[in-house]
Amino acid sequence: MPAILNAYAGVAGQDVINQLRQLAERLQGVRVVHVNSTYMGGGVAEILGKMVPLMQEMGIDTTWEVITGDESFFQCTKSFHNALQGNKIEIPDALLQTYEDTNQGMAKSLGPLLAEADMVFVHDPQPAPLLSLCPQRKGYWVWRCHIDLSHPYRPVWKYLREFVEPYDASIFSLSDFAQTLPHPEYLIPPSIDPLSDKNIDLDETEVDGIFERFGLDASRPLMLQVSRFDRFKDPLGVIYAFRLAKKYVPDLQLDLAGGVATDDPEGELVRSEAEAFSEDDPDIHILQLPSDAHRTINALQRAADVVLQKSIREGFGLTVTEAMWKGKPVVGGDTGGIRLQVINNHTGFLVSTPEGAALRVRYLLERPHKLQEMGQKAREFVRENFLITRQLREYLTLMVALIHGCRDRIELG
Ligand code: UDP
Repeated sequence: MPAILNAYAGVAGQDVINQLRQLAERLQGVRVVHVNSTYMGGGVAEILGKMVPLMQEMGIDTTWEVITGDESFFQCTKSFHNALQGNKIEIPDALLQTYEDTNQGMAKSLGPLLAEADMVFVHDPQPAPLLSLCPQRKGYWVWRCHIDLSHPYRPVWKYLREFVEPYDASIFSLSDFAQTLPHPEYLIPPSIDPLSDKNIDLDETEVDGIFERFGLDASRPLMLQVSRFDRFKDPLGVIYAFRLAKKYVPDLQLDLAGGVATDDPEGELVRSEAEAFSEDDPDIHILQLPSDAHRTINALQRAADVVLQKSIREGFGLTVTEAMWKGKPVVGGDTGGIRLQVINNHTGFLVSTPEGAALRVRYLLERPHKLQEMGQKAREFVRENFLITRQLREYLTLMVALIHGCRDRIELG
């Protein structure tokens, strides 16, 4: 049995590992390519960084390619992201042309690899046109959408749908995001790697070190949100909620931690908006972290008393999963993938306004027993539903079904 995979038995159980091995037997030597738009920053890169080596370890010949582009390309794809999550945005033709030209250029360099692959997973809109630019393809192509597509701005979705329709299948994180498409749609929620630096258990000294390092007071309650600086993550709403909660919990401190993703051109602007809104309040700490600060984020999530993810749209919200795995109930925006994870009053609270968030933060901080009990439920909920072993099983099952042509029955062993 592959050594890396074996290490997950302790967390996920031996049965799960045996099942993965059985599935992988049907996929030995199969060539798989994942394509997305960044190696660093955001949930997709986070997952692929763990999923790709695991698939390789299991004998599946897997590679990860990244589509590169200039500033206007990422400006265009960020506009897609914003429009698909509901903002009414007209994208100028010149930017759409850059988008198509960039994909054309990438298709030239990646073409031979993609054409020969047995399975290609294309993540999100950035590389979506690659399929139409790869007419000699041999394998199955799946469009994997990580975005909250529950209320897309229709003209932009209509434009992108042209590129998505020819795929053999799509994967969405939850049923609310599924669209009318002429191919099978699968629902596979994302997951976290419990053995990664981001999620592995840390000793107390490492966790406590966070307070001094970032000028936080270990004796006072800490509220945390970890996110890219993106308006859909509502950093200003978090600051507002903090101010409201602080009226009742005067010692409260807030930490907004986020870095930049190389495919997100709006991060700097949104971070400066948050800084301006915080008005130099010494109890609001806005941290800009490097993209490899996984252990730091891990320690912050453990050090926090209560974790927020007050998004107004959210594809899934790995930061929610990460905090729950550390035994923290999450006060999360009542939207998208957060609803899959935060079971109201059990693993956290779903909120729609800063007022609601402040109320729940106060409720939890004033009831340490409840906070602990909900935190334990949160961790178990993640163990059962959102570990990488579950997501790997679903990806492998889908691959076996597509490659072996048995969509309604999968035979193993
Ligand atoms: N993340 C990080 N550094 C940051 C901000 C976020 O490493 O400064 C990580 C975070 O821990 C999580 C991922 O990036 O693993 C964000 O995924 P999520 O699904 O929450 O949001 P996305 O950024 O994909 O919208």
